[in-house]
Amino acid sequence: MQSHASISAVSELQLSVRGPVFTPADPGFATEVAAFNLSTQHQPHLAFGALDAEDVSAAVKWAAERGIPVAVQSTGHGATNAIEGGLLISTRRMLELSIDPLEKTARVGAGVRWKAVVDEAAAFGLMGLCGSTTDVGVVGYTLGGGLPIMGRKYGFASDHVIAFELVTADGTQHRVTQDENPELFFLLRGGKGNLGIVTAMEFHLFPSQDIFAGGIYFDGDHAATVLQQFSEWVGTLPTEASASLAFLRLPDMDIIPEPLRGKFVVHLRYAYQGDAATATQLLEPMRRSAPFMMDGTGPLDSTRFDTIHMDPDQPVPARECGFLLDRLDGPAREAILRHFGPGVESPVLMAELRLLGGALAAGDGQDTVGGRDAAFSFFMAGMAVPPLAELLPKVYDAVRQDLRDASNSGTFVNLHGHFVDAEDRERAWGPAIRERLRKAKAELDPQNMFSFGHVVGLPVIDQTVLLEDVVTSGADAALGN
Ligand SMILES: Cc1cc2nc3c(=O)[nH]c(=O)nc-3n(C[C@H](O)[C@H](O)[C@H](O)COP(=O)(O)OP(=O)(O)OC[C@H]3O[C@@H](n4cnc5c(N)ncnc54)[C@H](O)[C@@H]3O)c2cc1C
Repeated sequence: MQSHASISAVSELQLSVRGPVFTPADPGFATEVAAFNLSTQHQPHLAFGALDAEDVSAAVKWAAERGIPVAVQSTGHGATNAIEGGLLISTRRMLELSIDPLEKTARVGAGVRWKAVVDEAAAFGLMGLCGSTTDVGVVGYTLGGGLPIMGRKYGFASDHVIAFELVTADGTQHRVTQDENPELFFLLRGGKGNLGIVTAMEFHLFPSQDIFAGGIYFDGDHAATVLQQFSEWVGTLPTEASASLAFLRLPDMDIIPEPLRGKFVVHLRYAYQGDAATATQLLEPMRRSAPFMMDGTGPLDSTRFDTIHMDPDQPVPARECGFLLDRLDGPAREAILRHFGPGVESPVLMAELRLLGGALAAGDGQDTVGGRDAAFSFFMAGMAVPPLAELLPKVYDAVRQDLRDASNSGTFVNLHGHFVDAEDRERAWGPAIRERLRKAKAELDPQNMFSFGHVVGLPVIDQTVLLEDVVTSGADAALGN
């Protein structure tokens, strides 16, 4: 039998948790760390698949005692910048889900995706505030604010959180609500993974009836007319209606329906909750704006929300960039058309304008979400494969520069895309919120263990020391020492 003193660091972790621990030499490691975004190759020293909050707490305590930085991943949809070194805790086995149809609330574990909530809630005539794809994790999405399909009617997903269960950097478990931990509650609703690992979350659901939604695909040759009409039309929409417009350069692939395959199209996405006649009437000016190739709008069951945006449902190598616009005036429209209009050779597959405002703007200031005051979210994505991977950052810089007069200085953290430096990764929060996040972090995570992804501050931990420590310990464990 091994003496306690001879047990390696990795073995100690294995003994203190129930879920699987993987070193880079283990066959399951690659699957465990894989992200939805295939261009991001996470390279932690160790990966751990937590089964529950106890597991997360034990693993974080283990890491804290050794000064090892900790990252968390659920689906990898937000994996824009790669994790290097440290311990990656995967939450994808934490699939607790319950719906309370009387209270109209849901409780989810950290690994639950929106699809599961939407499907289960629909049986009770309810829905959660999911975004353009139900494939993303409910917790990661909501910690970043969560910009929903029905956002103009209901606001950000984070506006409707009732409670978080959080493991902080010392491994302690906390229940965080407006009453029990108001400052933490404030900062978690938009503060992303700065302050710990959320193991479970409770939130409000909404009626799922009377939704009229879908997309219209216009021939890209009419992009200027459609964009002009869109800029006027959005001003007429009530808050019950949400809309976005995307310039899509669709690949010539079987997964794309025939009339659209290999084409440049402008995709209007629309969702309205209320009676179908009003929904149709409101949409009419856009429908008449230009010839279209496909109209997929109509009454829509909440379980089919993914058909509105038609986001990719399989992992893709993407490089993304997003920021906020205060207006869509003439110069902004011209800039968009210069970069994404007909005849332009662009490596950007999708450039999207999402209308904000309505309940998204009507917050009481009691949260940390960036973008409340903006008029549009502007988001671009392209395939991060050679030679496009090198081109994309340059194109993004040029677009940002050309749209600077219409831009808001901040970003919406969920749709920020890759960050290029320390300053950029903090841009989602204004100075006052950044200060509050720093203060809370100094108290709860003074070593900045949670230093991956969109966080404030720089890592305090010296990764080179950890590399030796964990790799040596991993080798010890593999040798059974
Ligand atoms: C195709 C696509 C469509 C999208 N559409 C929308 C949209 O409509 N609206 C919108 O708001 N966003 C949207 N997003 C962005 C998405 O919400 C974010 O990327 C979000 O971070 C995804 O969360 P995840 O847990 O699935 O991803 P992950 O990559 O697993 O996690 C991303 C980050 O979230 C944090 N995080 C995750 N889980 C935890 C946890 N348990 N505790 C603490 N921190 C945690 C961490 O910082 C982590 O690095 C979209 C993304 C994609 C790829």
